[in-house]
This record gives sequence, C-alpha cells and structure tokens, in this order.
Amino acid sequence: MKIVIKVGTSTLAHATGRLNLKRTGELCKVISDLKNAGHELILVSSGAIGMGVGKLALLEKPTDIPTKQAAAAVGQCELMYTYDKLFAEYGHTVAQILLTGSDFTAKDRHENFSNTIERLLTLHALPIINENDTVATEEIKVGDNDTLSALVAVSVKADMLVILSDVDGLYSSDPHKDKNAKLIEEVRGVTDKLFSLAGDTGSALGTGGMKTKLTAAKLCAKEGVDTVIANGENPALLYDIVANEKKGYTRFYA
Ligand code: GLU
Repeated sequence: MKIVIKVGTSTLAHATGRLNLKRTGELCKVISDLKNAGHELILVSSGAIGMGVGKLALLEKPTDIPTKQAAAAVGQCELMYTYDKLFAEYGHTVAQILLTGSDFTAKDRHENFSNTIERLLTLHALPIINENDTVATEEIKVGDNDTLSALVAVSVKADMLVILSDVDGLYSSDPHKDKNAKLIEEVRGVTDKLFSLAGDTGSALGTGGMKTKLTAAKLCAKEGVDTVIANGENPALLYDIVANEKKGYTRFYA
C-alpha cells in the first residue's frame, strides 16, 4: 500500500515545544517496520515552528510572520536532524521536501515534485514533507499540514492518508464538553453535516483543528483516497489502521 502519514506538532512535541522523544521514537520505529513490510510511506510532518519555539526558548508560539518563519527555519533543522538519526537506527534513509501551495498549482513544479517523490520511493527513501514556512506567505501558502497532506496524498495517488492527532477521531459531539460523545468509526461521504460536529480548536502549538482534517478527508474522498484520523499517542495503532482493523479511530471511505 502507498500511505501518507501526517503527524501533528501535538504528537511530536510536549507542550513546552521540546520533542517528545518517547513518542517520536516509537513513531519512527513503526513507520520503519511498515516500510520493511513492503509499504510505500510518505511522512508529512509538522513541528518546525513548535520545535523552533522550544529551541529558541521563546515564551509562546509567535504570531508575527517573521518570528514564525525564523522559528520554522530553526525548528525544521532540528526536526530533520531528529528524523535522520531515529530512522537511521532502523536502516532507513530520509529525504526532506519543503512545499508551498503554489508548488501544486504551477504545472512544471508539480511535475518536478511528482518525479522526485516517485524516484525517492523507488530508491526506498522516506520522503518527509513540510510546508516551506520560511517563504510561504499568505498568497502562496497551503496554511496547514492537514490540507498539505491531502494534496500530497492525492498527488501521489496514495491508497490512504492517515492523520495522527491528539484526538481519537471524529466524535458525535465535542468530547471535551460532552461525556456521552461517541467516536464515529466509519464515515461514508464527507457531508456538510459532519462539519458541524467539528469544533475548530487546535493545540497551542499546532495549526489545524477538526475542520481542516475534515476538509482533508473530503478532498481525498473525492479523488479516491481513504482518510483515517487517529490519535498519535500510541503509534502502534498504525498497524491496526493498515490492517483495516476497527479499533478506536475514524476511517473515511473514498
Ligand atoms: N508547517 C508548520 C510547522 O511545521 C505546521 C503547520 C500545521 O501544524 O498544520 O510548524
């Protein structure tokens, strides 16, 4: 299977912005194992700004663009350094790809991206993608990595997009407010009604919320790609997701 996995800052980092070593280590191990089993994997990873915030010892996530871009420049290095080190332990080679929204709309750039990613996959490397935050201003950015991961999944004709987050999936109502909220395990058809179930809060360091995840699922469904929203807390859940075992996450069928 060709699988795009999107991992959010809330999965990779502690609230301090510093790396959650245990979680990130486990994630890299499971992804390596799935690659060993013959799956083609592409990782879309957030965390650049969050990690930059931690490394630069800023007190909170910046709101002005130059500081955000500076934090991303610092954090992206830290992120790739960490991935390179962890995946190397399991014998895998990582490749960094930084994209902006205009790379999907400009035909020649999109073609170059497609060619490169296909070649990386045939070379058994692991592409790790993020938005090119240091140059992506309003007019050209995708804006959030849920949408970016959907654009990537559609572009590479993936079988499945897995969005790892700090929630188990889509609930019948807001689980923070309603203790009777139920996890919806299967969705066929991403309708407007589903969007009303999604609150739009994200974590302190990340960008998206449930709305951007539903938008991603909708984009993928239209193009024949299944989407899963799952909790990144326990990366071993990826084994169940790939085996299509229903256990505590939401799967949106294309
Ligand atoms: N590109 C941003 C980063 O690496 C993350 C965007 C998002 O969380 O959706 O910090």
